[in-house]
Amino acid sequence: SANPTAGWNFDNSYAKLPETFYSSLPPVPVRKPEAVILNDALAAELGLNPEWLHGEEAASVFGGNTLPEGAYPLAQAYAGHQFGGFNRLGDGRAVLLGEQLTPGGRRVDIQLKGSGRTPFSRGGDGRAALGPMLREYIISEAMHALNIPTTRSLAVTATGEPIRRETELPGAVLTRTAASHLRVGTFQYAAQWGGPDAVRTLADYAIERHYPEIEAANPVGDPVAGADGERYAAFLSGVVERQAALIAQWMLAGFIHGVMNTDNMTISGESIDYGPCAFLDAYDPATVFSSIDTGGRYAYGNQPPIALWNLTRLAETLIPLLGEDTERAVEIAQGILGRFERLYLDAWFDGMRGKLGLFGREDEDEKLIADLLDLMKAFRADYTNTFVGLTFGLPAFDDEAGNAELDYAGIEAESGEGRPANFPGADALLASGEYRVWRERWQQRLQRQTESRAEAEALMRRSNPAIIPRNHRVEEALAAASSEGDYEPLHRLVAALADPHAHSARQAPYAQLAPDDHAGYRTFCGT
Ligand code: AMP
Ligand code: MG
Ligand code: MG
Repeated sequence: SANPTAGWNFDNSYAKLPETFYSSLPPVPVRKPEAVILNDALAAELGLNPEWLHGEEAASVFGGNTLPEGAYPLAQAYAGHQFGGFNRLGDGRAVLLGEQLTPGGRRVDIQLKGSGRTPFSRGGDGRAALGPMLREYIISEAMHALNIPTTRSLAVTATGEPIRRETELPGAVLTRTAASHLRVGTFQYAAQWGGPDAVRTLADYAIERHYPEIEAANPVGDPVAGADGERYAAFLSGVVERQAALIAQWMLAGFIHGVMNTDNMTISGESIDYGPCAFLDAYDPATVFSSIDTGGRYAYGNQPPIALWNLTRLAETLIPLLGEDTERAVEIAQGILGRFERLYLDAWFDGMRGKLGLFGREDEDEKLIADLLDLMKAFRADYTNTFVGLTFGLPAFDDEAGNAELDYAGIEAESGEGRPANFPGADALLASGEYRVWRERWQQRLQRQTESRAEAEALMRRSNPAIIPRNHRVEEALAAASSEGDYEPLHRLVAALADPHAHSARQAPYAQLAPDDHAGYRTFCGT
């Protein structure tokens, strides 16, 4: 029978940039493309036909064997500071098929990752293993469900070809979607090998694509003297603002990116590159999971200053566009970068208030929050489960009938639908005298706000996920898929992660901590 219409609607603006920004080439075909997991919800947003998505032609497209109509495949050029060292890079194992214009009016990159060698490969086979591609699928979709801006995963397709690492592993291609794949490293590439004109071309492209409000206020080539400088200053401000908000969301969710190289920081403000990332379990700002991050450069607590370091690299590329007087341009850039810390802290403190059910801002909030984190660190309390415990142990504080009589000293006092039986990794803290003292301060703060206890609880439920992709559950799903071809644990995990704020009974198993033999868990850059 004839293939159903796919629903592609490509318009490839990146391919209209000067050729120095990419290399045109198709993906390298694979032996036997087979769908392993497909994202129906994302496909619908993209305007793809669900029947086509589950058919043979889709597997052939996502494996790189068939080019969809309207695609213009290319590998993007970029550079990047990797652990502080500057390198010329580029898509060494990915091709951009093009940009899908969605029914909702968005422009979305469709990229194949693990699609074979490109002129940027230098070393490497251009391929990817099934495990890491499934890992990116799980975590990127979990991030999306947590309302954190992120690239997404449309499909993982097995290639039917083994890849050689330390052992032979099954190969796979990830179909990744993104607002764009423009990175801080793309600007570094333009500055280093193209000069100010290339940076301007790229900045104009990025503004048009991601910052339409700047395009409207400061159109390109505004004849008013000095307006161009304002345009690029507004662009730098925009990226700084989005990254400050993004990093705050990472920190609030306990997410550790693991490899915050400048080529892994987007201009759009989406999270990208789920290689050695992992979620915090026991709260400790020094937490590192990545096997190669021996110095802790990308430790959990280091992410905000590292983001600023990366943004400073972006600012350096924009100096020539900020004004003719370099000294003045540097001052402008410094002024913009100087706002990062406050932007970040405001977003983070507001998020923390939400996690504690607090409305409005009080001066003492920062101390209340800091003291809780100190306790969590001292008890090595599980980050996620502590906040779930707080949510279900919210003290009585308003004047509603009977509430004042509730025993607020113990979380056992309040029960409710979906209340977990315990809070793994957080029970010791929640039962401690130190916590009891802190909880009274929290209760008094709650008491001072006009919002009801029900409103506070609702805020906490939507601010504190019941479920995160815990390392041992992710590994379990990947092991079953990679070594036994059993995709059930993967599908169950992905389904549970899709609604992290449901606080439903079926999520309880995913709140369990890793067995003790999981201590020293390490992650690896995508293999
Ligand atoms: P990443 O660590 O995933 O951000 O990748 C850093 C750089 O290494 C990028 O330019 C990748 O394209 C390249 N790279 C990573 N793995 C491979 C591979 N298997 N083959 C070719 N290039 C690779
Ligand atoms: Mg990368
Ligand atoms: Mg990577």
